[in-house]
Amino acid sequence: MTHLLSDELLGTFRERAADYDRDNAFFAEDLADLQAAGYLGTMVPTAFGGAGLSLRETAREQARLSAHAPATALAVNMHHVWVGVGRYLHERGDSSLDWLLAEAAAGEVFGFGYSEPGNDLVLLGSRTEARPDGAGGYTFHGRKIFTSNSPAWTRLGVLGLDSSNGTGRRGGGPRLVHAFVTRDGGGFEILDDWDTIGMRASQSRTTRLDGAHAPADRVLRLLPPGPSLDPYVLGIFTSFEVLLASVYAGIADRALELAVEAVGRRTSMKTGKPYSQDPDVRRRIADMALTQDSVWLQIDGITRDLDASASDSTLDRGAGWFRAAAGLKVRVTEAARDVVDQAVRVSGGSTYFSSSELGRLYRDVLAGIFHPSSDDSAHATAAQSLLGPLE
Ligand SMILES: Cc1cc2nc3c(=O)[nH]c(=O)nc-3n(C[C@H](O)[C@H](O)[C@H](O)COP(=O)(O)OP(=O)(O)OC[C@H]3O[C@@H](n4cnc5c(N)ncnc54)[C@H](O)[C@@H]3O)c2cc1C
Repeated sequence: MTHLLSDELLGTFRERAADYDRDNAFFAEDLADLQAAGYLGTMVPTAFGGAGLSLRETAREQARLSAHAPATALAVNMHHVWVGVGRYLHERGDSSLDWLLAEAAAGEVFGFGYSEPGNDLVLLGSRTEARPDGAGGYTFHGRKIFTSNSPAWTRLGVLGLDSSNGTGRRGGGPRLVHAFVTRDGGGFEILDDWDTIGMRASQSRTTRLDGAHAPADRVLRLLPPGPSLDPYVLGIFTSFEVLLASVYAGIADRALELAVEAVGRRTSMKTGKPYSQDPDVRRRIADMALTQDSVWLQIDGITRDLDASASDSTLDRGAGWFRAAAGLKVRVTEAARDVVDQAVRVSGGSTYFSSSELGRLYRDVLAGIFHPSSDDSAHATAAQSLLGPLE
């Protein structure tokens, strides 16, 4: 497997992660090092100047990064998601995001500005107004929450709703507008409101869009609100869920590593032996390992199929990707929470100190439940795939 990040660099990231967490600081130095290592171009095809890693390889790289610096990995993940969409489209003959692939390889940092307060429709609706500029472009007006990488993104993918009926490019009813705005273009304010219990270095602050402009060539899709099988939507959904899962799998991998170290170190007064000789502890460690084995089988399996489905249509699951990707995200993030929880139990009270790495993983891993797809929506997707839509 190709590695873009050296063990030495990852070790540096791990040291910084503790400081960023304590200081609630953005991972600026990590980002500079990741840029220098070409990490922003991990999944960009070599023809566009990137490293050309597959989705499967990128998922593995992201887990490796996350095992050292979870918040750094989560924030950079938002960039990789966009590259994943560009690549998904490119490999299927759609060149509309080729510019993004080239810009990502050239060092631009992409953010993901989709989440909104009170929008549980996620990709299917928006509370942000997309106002046509009369020349095929749009300005955006609304509030985006949890925008990771806020201090550093240079391009922000946004979603808004054009309700001006008929004046949208295709006319005829409201349209969801998927587009990109630039930091240089202004028309937004980033609030200094990120003070969370975990994933602190991601600095996923609120973004108030107040006229941020996307010109016509940065408006990627105008789609009717509601479910869509448009490749752009499928690309976002699959890249997002799969890469997100890898970040949380990486946290769990590290928790297991720390737990193994801890039970070898801690001794029992009862037996005089290390806890690694305690049958109950051994069972917990084994349980964690067996969970992670199945987690990686699932991530590798789905990413391999997604990679191969670009050239082998028999592997294309169509609408089935929604169930597959949402299910993967929920299973992996829930498994990660369980593994970290078990790691904490066998490692003891020292993990309760805010300076403990395992304690930090315990806080970081919780974020997994808040990202889409939620447990409920993944179940709704699975039910719909078997029972049809809810009437
Ligand atoms: C660490 C982390 C990083 C993330 N990074 C990104 C990212 O880069 N890009 C991205 O798009 N998303 C990102 N997300 C967002 C995430 O995917 C969810 O959208 C987010 O957690 C919101 O979840 P929620 O709707 O359950 O929150 P809630 O707690 O329900 O709501 C969040 C806020 O919205 C307000 N609100 C809720 N309902 C309403 C309403 N009806 N009207 C008005 N206000 C309301 C709440 O008061 C609260 O302030 C990130 C999440 C986390 C945890």
